[in-house]
Amino acid sequence: MEKAKIVGFQALTDKVGRFSLRDKICLIPEMNRIGSHLLAAVFRGFGINARVMETYKGLDLGREYTSGKECYPCQITMGDILYCMKEEAARLGDDFHAEDYIYFMPEADGPCRFGMYNKYQRIVLDSFPELDRLKIGSLSTQDGYSLAGIIEDGRVRDLRKASYFSLVIGDILDRLLWRIRPYEKEAGSTDEFIETSMRLMEELLERMGPQKEFDKVLDRLEQVIEEGKGLIDPAQPARPLIGMVGEIYLRTHVHANQDLIRVLEGFGAEVVNASLAEWVNYISYDALRSARRGFLLALRRFRTQAMKKYLKDMMGYGGDLYYQEFRLKRTYARIRSLIDLPADHRVAHLEKILKEEDLLDFDVGTEACLSIPGIIEYAREGYNGVVNVYPFTCMPSTITSAIVGPLMNRLGIPYLDTPYDSTSQPGREAAIRTFMYQAEQHFKRHGRKGNAETG
Ligand code: SF4
Repeated sequence: MEKAKIVGFQALTDKVGRFSLRDKICLIPEMNRIGSHLLAAVFRGFGINARVMETYKGLDLGREYTSGKECYPCQITMGDILYCMKEEAARLGDDFHAEDYIYFMPEADGPCRFGMYNKYQRIVLDSFPELDRLKIGSLSTQDGYSLAGIIEDGRVRDLRKASYFSLVIGDILDRLLWRIRPYEKEAGSTDEFIETSMRLMEELLERMGPQKEFDKVLDRLEQVIEEGKGLIDPAQPARPLIGMVGEIYLRTHVHANQDLIRVLEGFGAEVVNASLAEWVNYISYDALRSARRGFLLALRRFRTQAMKKYLKDMMGYGGDLYYQEFRLKRTYARIRSLIDLPADHRVAHLEKILKEEDLLDFDVGTEACLSIPGIIEYAREGYNGVVNVYPFTCMPSTITSAIVGPLMNRLGIPYLDTPYDSTSQPGREAAIRTFMYQAEQHFKRHGRKGNAETG
């Protein structure tokens, strides 16, 4: 691709934001594979031409157009979009028009660099004459990932509900994979089964998502679970249970974390990773918390306009959170009656743990607010070890590591930090093997939580 000019700051407001997705091709990065594909299916159900971009194939491009100081997920996603555009340009020739696409890249406010990815990527895209008209569709944590404006107003709420539901289904399929694979009768059968189940759920969510026929999707998911249970060899003994937390991109992107869950399983673990739904709930919870704080401040100063605005925000975010928690609880209640998958923690409960232990305040923000109490909860529930997965130099995960490392030491629970960049680390396997040896010892001494039987 030919390089061109660097543009001014106006591009950061004119070409990064929430845009209508009608008549555009919406490009969704593949972070968590299942979650991304199910979300794209829901979007398609609502008439949006959504596609999941291939991931990791453009890593060389990502490296070429970053300096090395950016977070690893920024490098990967930079590569993904450049690779996708290069492929589309080659495929379509003169019919390729960058303005036909919208590249979906959410952002977060707060103290770390996630809020800067889309700005940085905007600057890079604008340096190519053929890509400067490719807009970046950005959802922000500032307004609780509002979808307003991307489709017609009357359907926004339904799109949000169906999108959230698809994330919950994605989490459940992932948890099913991690629950079955370590005990499968036939090597490779679980991966194949989950891939087929994902395609089935895609088809159902695309068709039933817009009508909010969530119970019908769950009826079929229950059959999937019954089928999946048949892959488990009941003669296999239970394994040490490992909880995973960390930065959301790294812990869910199997290429970026070099398929860490599979490696842990190879050394004898059963793993449970933190979910995507928990992060979305946290965003709504945090937005509600900020609105509440704003309201109290306005009340103290008796600013009625501001009070009205914050009250409206509180009702909106409170409604989102209420709905999400309701949907989550109801879905897991049905699924857990069939198989012992772990449920998600309520965010209010995680905040309570942080307060009780006096380790960090939610005012600091970032994923450390979820990871630290999540680890404590794993410890309380009797997990045999905890792994923290994150990009090298990631700020929230380094905070988590600094706080939780000594705590786990005190509690006698094996703990492992696994920072990643695009290099392969020579001592990685030895560190994981040593960690798993410790987890095995913990398991022998203390047993493990609930699902001690494999079948
Ligand atoms: S969470 Fe970590 S990896 Fe992600 S932007 Fe922030 S510092 Fe970077």
